[in-house]
Amino acid sequence: MSDKYMAVAEKTGMKLKFDPGALLEKYNHERDKRVREDGSGQYRETSGQFAHFIDDPYVEPITREPLFDDVEVVVIGGGFGGLLAGARLREAGVKSIRMIEKGGDFGGTWYWNRYPGAQCDIEAYIYMPLLEELNYIPRERYAHAPEIMAHTQAIGRKYNLYDDVCFQTEVTGMQWDEKESKWIITTDRGDRMKARFVAMSNGPLNKPKLPSMTGIENFKGHTFHTSRWDYNYTGGTCEGNLTGLADKRVAIIGTGATAVQCIPHLGEWAKELFVFQRTPSSCDVRNNAPTSPEWVKKLQPGWHKKRIENFNFMVSGGDQPDDDSGDGWTDIFRNMSAQQSKNPDLVLSKEEEGILNELIDFAKMEEVRTRAATIVKDQATAEALKPYYRQFCKRPCFHDDYLPTFNRPNVTLVDTRGQGVDRITEKGVVFDGKEYEVDCLIFATGFEVGTDYTRRSGYDLIGRGGQALSEKWGKGVATLHGMHSRGFPNCFVMGTMQSGFTANFPHALDENAKHLSHIIKKVTDSNHTVVEASQEAEDEWVQVIIRKAKLGLRFYAECTPGYYNNEGKPGERSGQNGQYGGSSEDFFKILQSWRDEGQMRGLEVS
Ligand code: NDP
Repeated sequence: MSDKYMAVAEKTGMKLKFDPGALLEKYNHERDKRVREDGSGQYRETSGQFAHFIDDPYVEPITREPLFDDVEVVVIGGGFGGLLAGARLREAGVKSIRMIEKGGDFGGTWYWNRYPGAQCDIEAYIYMPLLEELNYIPRERYAHAPEIMAHTQAIGRKYNLYDDVCFQTEVTGMQWDEKESKWIITTDRGDRMKARFVAMSNGPLNKPKLPSMTGIENFKGHTFHTSRWDYNYTGGTCEGNLTGLADKRVAIIGTGATAVQCIPHLGEWAKELFVFQRTPSSCDVRNNAPTSPEWVKKLQPGWHKKRIENFNFMVSGGDQPDDDSGDGWTDIFRNMSAQQSKNPDLVLSKEEEGILNELIDFAKMEEVRTRAATIVKDQATAEALKPYYRQFCKRPCFHDDYLPTFNRPNVTLVDTRGQGVDRITEKGVVFDGKEYEVDCLIFATGFEVGTDYTRRSGYDLIGRGGQALSEKWGKGVATLHGMHSRGFPNCFVMGTMQSGFTANFPHALDENAKHLSHIIKKVTDSNHTVVEASQEAEDEWVQVIIRKAKLGLRFYAECTPGYYNNEGKPGERSGQNGQYGGSSEDFFKILQSWRDEGQMRGLEVS
């Protein structure tokens, strides 16, 4: 056992039931065999001959006349980000708002991801925004997709965001009109509308991706991506009952957070199910429950904001006595505080704190691995389902039916030992020289994350002097607060790039929304029309991002590949293009004190 771990364990009185040195070696070994030369290049775009993978299966296409009008604010994206921008702008008194959304209704990720079992793994009481404003209490602790989508629509109604909306509309380009100081927005419906301000909330996981393995195009059976679930083929709904699969052999590729939720339903209904795994997810206890009426009766005004902030404080590594959500997300941080408060006089150096954190992480993941070994009867399968990496290297999963699914006689885990499947044939999937013949092949292979912003959003922006955003950001993303980019005035980017990120993503989007509505109100109240980041402020923020990213880069460099670490290549550029490397708690405070200061520091207003 390595000395540094022993020393901290002894100092803190932590009893170790594992050998941290041996575990670290295993983690490194598992990572090394997964790192690939092609990194993010191993995936292919859902375009060209693969474009049908992203057709909308949920609505009848509409026709409408193109629009050539003028609005105050255009909001691109009708998910939580766009809706929160709309809501906060309405609160700030903005009357003329047009939402533009590719889907047939509001919902964003919850519009597209309707696979069986789709559910939010963050507590609904903090994940679903504007609960007090809408006087709504979620039905269960971890809400299912239909309830969340209904909530997005309720927000749309409450804030009159349906009034001027363009659904089934994709933005194709945005051009800054210097003379009028407005954006001209073009769409795939022939629109050429104008807007004084634009808020872009395209979503961080909006573009499904496919592995670029050979043969996908040759498969003669039925195939789709989880984010466009084909219920016409499988039968059933988001709640299951996939009767169409009763006589079908099904393969699913991928075992991330999406697969963990839909595999129990596939296992229940398919005649035969093959789960092709490259890296196991960490799958901890879910423990969902209906909302307790007694708990609801005790809620005081302001409870929602307090609970959201409490969670964020916990997952930002803050030490506080109350853990309101008290679930698997906060567990690791709770353990950290508990360990330290056992001995309040104990003083740890920064390095020792890091080692203690690592030990607690090892202990947490040992629990998760033991859970797999306890639930899954076949020990070879159980072993293959054990994750060997630190908990936040990949999105942690929480589910009570995922692991038991592998005890079903019709379900086979095909563990590709970190390599992924070899190829697809007309009849099925090949791994290790064996062809698995199937009727249906489902891709649970996730979404583009590390690719260029304009490729993911599907359009480019032409700013001042004809400069394209793709060209400017081709050298690395450059913003102030992740929101303003010089040369692209009056345009507000919402999301994670150079901005604060928290597991409770709508919280981050709401902070973005409050910030941009504050700025737009200030600009218009002072009878100005243009707001733009100064060069100096932008350069300074980019330096902050690069500096802070370096802290996280070490952690991610040691992680098994995935989209959190740019598929095992967390280099300098992805650091600049990534999120703010301090805690989201710190980032939100930066925005709050910037607003409190009231000087619009770093912005040029004219
Ligand atoms: P992920 O990117 O997390 O998972 C993709 C999966 O496909 C991984 O298991 C990956 O393996 C696997 N894969 C990729 N290529 C191959 C290959 N060639 N052969 C075999 N397997 C392959 O996508 P998800 O859709 O699961 O999740 C995306 C995100 O969506 C989550 O991280 C989460 O943020 C969000 N989400 C949130 C939920 C919520 O409750 N709020 C629920 C569901 C999703 P490998 O790990 O080896 O790369």
